[in-house]
Amino acid sequence: MGNLTDRQLLKELKLRLEEKKKVEVEFTELSKDFQGVTKKLKESEALKSHFISNITNEIVNPFTSILGLSKAILSVEKNDWKKVVSMVALIHSEAFNLDYQLRNIFVAAKVEAGEIAPNITKVNIRSLVQTVIDSFSIISRKMGVEFDIQFNIDHGFGKNFYFKTDSEKLKLILSNLINNALKYSYKDSKVIVKVWLDDDELCASVQDFGTGISEKNQKIIFERFKRLDSGINSINRGHGLGLSITKSLLDVLGGNIEIDSQKGEGSTFTVSMPEAQNIVDGFSGDGNDIFFDDEDEIF
Ligand code: ADP
Repeated sequence: MGNLTDRQLLKELKLRLEEKKKVEVEFTELSKDFQGVTKKLKESEALKSHFISNITNEIVNPFTSILGLSKAILSVEKNDWKKVVSMVALIHSEAFNLDYQLRNIFVAAKVEAGEIAPNITKVNIRSLVQTVIDSFSIISRKMGVEFDIQFNIDHGFGKNFYFKTDSEKLKLILSNLINNALKYSYKDSKVIVKVWLDDDELCASVQDFGTGISEKNQKIIFERFKRLDSGINSINRGHGLGLSITKSLLDVLGGNIEIDSQKGEGSTFTVSMPEAQNIVDGFSGDGNDIFFDDEDEIF
């Protein structure tokens, strides 16, 4: 720069000053971004620790009830069967809840570890849907909520319709939607479950006439650990995992989920999924799963 004229020097200085300003603006923006990321991280940490304490309660509380109730049964008078039956019903409902929550938690852990490859079989859809609904019969009866099942697929193999998919994942998807439909329903109402085919895609909807979800909240409920304070029934306390898991499972199956809901009027969740191409092993969906087994109904 030895031979610069004053004018050139001034120009150079101006240029450098402008560059410095630009860098300063970029720096301010970056630091804003950084603050945003830190805020999100803090929020996520808070959500996680809240989640852990929720989960702890949800595991510890049912266990305490199960232990207490089974101990009480041991000291019931020999002829007092009615008492025993109602206690066993409570044990069943607590164990059902615990099992259900643990399944979601384990799937969440697998999703986290990236281990959710589908296990495809030919699934008897009618029987799978019926089995899932039956598994909620005790809870629904307790709340006076009736199921209206509309199975709109006529064709298939004999009376049954088979669809290549992952039966465990489909069960969990439907269970989460039905569990929510019951949880946010008002007493003595109805839950409508519809199943149909659209362009070779399997579709299912679960409709309730409960609290509904505002438009703003419809955008956030699929986020992990997100809960809104709209639960009216304490039968199944939630942990904000159900819908995020449902979404992840549908992603694995190449499917979709849509909500149609009006605050105060109810919600309809509709899922759709294409048929899988590759079968890993045989048939499934015959309802012999222990978790969904309802043969021991007590009422
Ligand atoms: P949770 O275990 O809290 O129910 P989910 O992920 O299944 O977690 O649902 C997230 C939130 O979405 C719930 O806390 C609830 O506020 C709302 N929600 C889900 N399903 C329904 C429904 N059928 N009716 C009203 N609100 C619902």
